[in-house]
Amino acid sequence: MGFREVEVGGKVETKSYTRQYAALWAELSPVLEQVIREDKPILGKAVARFEAALASVHGVAHAVGVGSGTDALILSLRALGVGEGDEVITGAHTFAGVVSAILQAGASPVLVEPDAYGLLGVAGAEAAITPRTRCILPVHFHGHPVDATGLRALADARGLVLLEDVAQAHGATWQGRPVGSFGHAAAMSFHPSKNLGAFGDGGAVLTDDGALAARLRILRNLGKDGKYDFAEVAPNSKLDTLQAALLEVKLRHLPAWVERRRALARRYLAGLEGVGDLELPRVHPDAEHAWHLFVVRTGRREALRAWLAGRGIRTSLHYPTPAHRHPAFAERLGAPSLPRAERLAERVLTLPLSHEHTDAEIDRVIEGVRDFFREA
Ligand SMILES: *Cc1c(COP(=O)(O)O)cnc(C)c1O
Repeated sequence: MGFREVEVGGKVETKSYTRQYAALWAELSPVLEQVIREDKPILGKAVARFEAALASVHGVAHAVGVGSGTDALILSLRALGVGEGDEVITGAHTFAGVVSAILQAGASPVLVEPDAYGLLGVAGAEAAITPRTRCILPVHFHGHPVDATGLRALADARGLVLLEDVAQAHGATWQGRPVGSFGHAAAMSFHPSKNLGAFGDGGAVLTDDGALAARLRILRNLGKDGKYDFAEVAPNSKLDTLQAALLEVKLRHLPAWVERRRALARRYLAGLEGVGDLELPRVHPDAEHAWHLFVVRTGRREALRAWLAGRGIRTSLHYPTPAHRHPAFAERLGAPSLPRAERLAERVLTLPLSHEHTDAEIDRVIEGVRDFFREA
C-alpha cells in the first residue's frame, strides 16, 4: 500500500515527513519487510551493513551505531577517557544538548564565543585551553563545517582529543574531505529532522581507532563484553536493526538530497540579498555547507516571524535561548559573559529548507520576506 500524497495546500512547512516517505516508499517497503521477516531486531545484519557503509562514505575505518546523537556524544567522551575533572571546549552558539552531554559525561563545558561564521574557531578554542582541558568538541552548526584541519592541528599540538559533532552536517565537507573524518571520533545523530534521519531516534560514532570502536561496542550494550560478562557500568543504547535498514536506503540518496539543499540555499541567497537588515549565512571558501538549516539574522525577528506565519509560512528558531541560560546548566556554568552568543540567540530565524521543498515554496518564502521589509 502506498502513501496518499498529502498536499500542504497554501502552507509552507519547515519539513514534511509525509512527502519524504511518499517519495521513498516503493524502495523502502520491501527492505523493511525483509528485515522484519529475516533479520534480528537487535544488532541484526542491517546494523553491521549500515555501519560499514557509513564508515566508508566518510573515509573512516569504523562506525558504531548507538541510540541517539546525544548518546553518541556521551559515549564518545567516555570512550576517549574524558570525564570528571576534565574541561571540554565547545562553542557557546550551539544546541544546548551538547552542553548537557558534556555534563552527563561528568566533564565541565567551557563555552567559547562564536567566530565570524557563528562557529567554534581555532583562535577562540586556543585561548580557552587551561591545564584541565582534555577535549575540543566543535559542532558543524547548521551544517557549516568548522575549521576542522585547524582544530585537529591545535588538538594534536596540545595533546588534546578532538570530538566532532556532525549531527547537523551530514554531507558537508571541509577542504574536500567529509566532516566526521577529522576528529579522534565524531558523533552523529539520525534524529528524524536531520539531513540523514531515521524514523525515530538513532546515532553513530565514527572513528579510525579500532580500540575506541571496540570499547564503544561494549559501552552501547550495557557494558557487556560478550554475552554474559558485564565489563563496565554502561547504558543500553544501540541503533535498532529496523532504523539501520531504513538509514542504509537513505544514505544512498544523501548526496542528491544535499545537492538539492544547496540549490535551494543558493535560491535564498540570490533572492534575499540586500533585503532590509537581513544578514544571510556566509560560507567559508574551504567549506561545502550541508545546509541542514538556513538561518538568517535580523533585529526584527519576532515581527518577521509573525508576518510569515500570517501567510502560512512556518519558521523555527535555532536556538532562542543561549546554552548557558538554560535552568539545568546555569548553575554549573556560572554566569559566563557571552554577548555574541546572546545576540545571535536574539536574532536568528530559520527559514524552511529541506530536500523536499519545491522551488515555488522557497520563492513564496523569499517573496514573503521581501514584502515584510518593503511594507515595514
Ligand atoms: C540533534 C543534535 C544532537 C542530538 O542528537 P539526538 O539524536 O537528538 O540525541 C546533538 N548535537 C547537535 C548539534 C544536534 O543538532
